[in-house]
Amino acid sequence: MSFKNIIDLHTHTDNSFDGHHSTMFLSETAYMKGLRAVAFTDHLEMDAFYENSFNKTAIQSFFEIAKARSAFSGKLIVCIGAELGQPTYNRPVSEKLLEMMKYDFVIGSIHNLPDMKDFYYIDFSDESIDCMKLLEEYFEQVLELAKWAKFDSLGHLTYPLRYMVGNYGKSVDISKFSEVIDEILLTLIKENKALEINTSGLRKSYGKIIPDESILKRYKQLGGKLITVGSDAHYAEHLGADIDKGYELALKCGFEEIAVYQDRTPTLIPIE
Ligand SMILES: [Zn+2]
Ligand SMILES: [Zn+2]
Repeated sequence: MSFKNIIDLHTHTDNSFDGHHSTMFLSETAYMKGLRAVAFTDHLEMDAFYENSFNKTAIQSFFEIAKARSAFSGKLIVCIGAELGQPTYNRPVSEKLLEMMKYDFVIGSIHNLPDMKDFYYIDFSDESIDCMKLLEEYFEQVLELAKWAKFDSLGHLTYPLRYMVGNYGKSVDISKFSEVIDEILLTLIKENKALEINTSGLRKSYGKIIPDESILKRYKQLGGKLITVGSDAHYAEHLGADIDKGYELALKCGFEEIAVYQDRTPTLIPIE
């Protein structure tokens, strides 16, 4: 299926420590690929904000995206975004940042548990690691994040599975967590926050969209209306990657519209 409006609301520039291309180059690529809108959402890991100089990153990233937004005006909608990692581990600084920076769109994510490294760096082949325990803590932290509710879209719910299952082939049954997942989804609905459909899993060994169909269907069933779709691109060639597959899954789960954010306000665009 081909779609009229490809909108990618989760991408990283070289202002992210794991990004590779400049904001201008990415904007040009997004335009050439025919995207309707793109949000650049560089990493700001709030639990290490000053230690890892994310305060400087935030300003540099914002400034470069604002420049691109003007340069591409009338050609491509560029949203000034940020992906806040673990904002609930450092609430005062996160809240101050959001007051200071006039973002269009903010993703809230959990990449690590308190005082632990990113799930990306954990060696799950170590038999002493209890995946179920880590997942239990992960979902509790995501629930805290949802309740904090000062973001626009919840990033890549079930993120650890990308590594546990995708990279290490662990078989994990998340049905055990259906209660807390319901609570997360209900909190998003109550707070009028979006759930992200993150297509990066399709490019990795995980092979699935994050979160998977069952969670997206459940969100719809519980009354969820707001969804955003993002590739989580860290390279120009991945801009817009599998957004069409994200749309197909959204339609399959009963969603007919996706949200795009400007000035922290969603506009619903029909998936067509
Ligand atoms: Zn992330
Ligand atoms: Zn990301």
